[in-house]
Amino acid sequence: MPTQQLPPLGHNPSSRAQGTTPGSFANAPQLGGPRSFSSPDAPGMPEPSEKTAWDFLPRGWRRDAASGFASAPAGFEPSTQLEFARLGVITPEMRRVAEREAHLTPEQVRDEVAAGRMVIPANKVHLGYGLDPMAIGRASKTKVNANMGASPISSSTDEEVEKLRWAERWQADTVMDLSTGGNLDATREAIVQHATVPIGTVPIYSMIIGRKIEELDERMILDGLEHQAKQGVDYMTVHAGVLHEHLPFVRSRLIGIVSRGGSLLAKWMITHGKQNPMYTLWDEICEILRRYDVTFSIGDGLRPGGLADATDAAQLAELETLGELTERAWQHGVQVMVEGPGHVPFDQIEYNMKLQRRLCHGAPFYVLGPLVTDMFPGYDHITSAIGATAAAYHGAAMLCYVTPKEHLGLPKKDDVKQGCVAYKIAAHAADVALGIPGARDRDDELTKARAALNWERHFELSFDPDLARAYHDEDLDVDTDFCAMCGHDWCSVRISKEIEQFVSGKDERYAWSSPKLSAALTAEQKQVLEKRGVLSPGEIHRLATKTREKVGADAGHKAACHSDLASDEQAHVIQGE
Ligand code: SF4
Repeated sequence: MPTQQLPPLGHNPSSRAQGTTPGSFANAPQLGGPRSFSSPDAPGMPEPSEKTAWDFLPRGWRRDAASGFASAPAGFEPSTQLEFARLGVITPEMRRVAEREAHLTPEQVRDEVAAGRMVIPANKVHLGYGLDPMAIGRASKTKVNANMGASPISSSTDEEVEKLRWAERWQADTVMDLSTGGNLDATREAIVQHATVPIGTVPIYSMIIGRKIEELDERMILDGLEHQAKQGVDYMTVHAGVLHEHLPFVRSRLIGIVSRGGSLLAKWMITHGKQNPMYTLWDEICEILRRYDVTFSIGDGLRPGGLADATDAAQLAELETLGELTERAWQHGVQVMVEGPGHVPFDQIEYNMKLQRRLCHGAPFYVLGPLVTDMFPGYDHITSAIGATAAAYHGAAMLCYVTPKEHLGLPKKDDVKQGCVAYKIAAHAADVALGIPGARDRDDELTKARAALNWERHFELSFDPDLARAYHDEDLDVDTDFCAMCGHDWCSVRISKEIEQFVSGKDERYAWSSPKLSAALTAEQKQVLEKRGVLSPGEIHRLATKTREKVGADAGHKAACHSDLASDEQAHVIQGE
């Protein structure tokens, strides 16, 4: 037996306790506390805040020590999920979240929302259009946002709705409409009405269409926010944390301010010599968002735009202000999440996540990437997915995807897919590592199918079955006990299967006597291969059929491509040898 001492174990990553690995090496889950699912702290990391949203109740509210819930002044009508949760009410949206997060009860969802550690972005108007409520928070699974939006250069409303459907197809948990061109109002309206996922926006974009940023005034800001809230937007990025006094910190940066909202508001402040109007109007903005139950996504206008600018004075000063704004929004009963960077060297990610947990008292952290290197344009869905995995493991609750087009152009349909897939991988990898119950079940099922060389099940369990099948069938469109990578004689899985005691093989109905022609290479799968640009359609066809002849078992005879299953007795003999 190995003599190594394992680190302290948290939770079993597979609720069915399959396989041989121990539980997750993350902390044991502390649901109901600031370390619900958390990574062990590296030395020097900030401790979680001792405060929660309970410490920032609106004036006139009291928390009852016995029940743990609050009471509001007479005549008060709750409007937001946070207010209902504080009053001890479980809403239909909380119940739906508990259905979707099998490891949480409706009571746990309510309690996390009441503590401010979880948000349910569900504008009442959008609920009327068919929004399927979901939650963002440390106690729930890590979520992924996909950005889209028409630009002045490219795209239209129809295309954006098509991209929304596409992002939902690739399992984005929320979608942000970041349109800066075309008919913004019609595009937003169409997206909200078609979306079953929450929709986020950055309202300042539409406020400056047809005018210069310098012309923006308080009325335009409040009207613009109210208009979008009325349309059903579920969460809004408001860059209220960029303060006039933070701007000098930006001078020493390599790339200044890279947030669109942050740079626009900086220009406004410099032109007018005044404080950020989003900051000075914060209480009025909170009241608008509260009426519709729009969740804040408090923007990080000073996020770093390159590794060299990460964790600098500008970013950290703004983060402190984001903490203050979180407290004030909670005092208005508004749900809050906080946005984060950006471009961060891998070693600084944990600190950034844990500092936010402290300064913003556990409000869900919604991060963009972060990219862990700057020199791979065209591959930033990969550079950022690496950072995103670390971010989610160390504390982020939602990851904003980055596509291969980042820094280069407007994402098209396939870029949306690549971004979604990269980020679903990042989020899922973190959930497995954190030991979220059940998170690893599908991985384990796929491993079993892989061990059994059960290709149909292997494809079925894949995140992208068409791609997996097409890649397999590019070389072998026959159901063999090996694939084209190693071939029959070198297939370790096939050999393992022969020396295993148990029949890990195909399902019970599997006909061992003949090779099975795969059902693959549908038109869609052919397209997958054609898009790779490696092979012509003719070559694909030729490759996909060639192996039928090679394995060539006549009907009624056992195909040479199949493993010989050993009985228990034979296996013992082989293992003994
Ligand atoms: S041939 Fe190689 S890659 Fe393919 S199933 Fe066997 S071991 Fe895996």
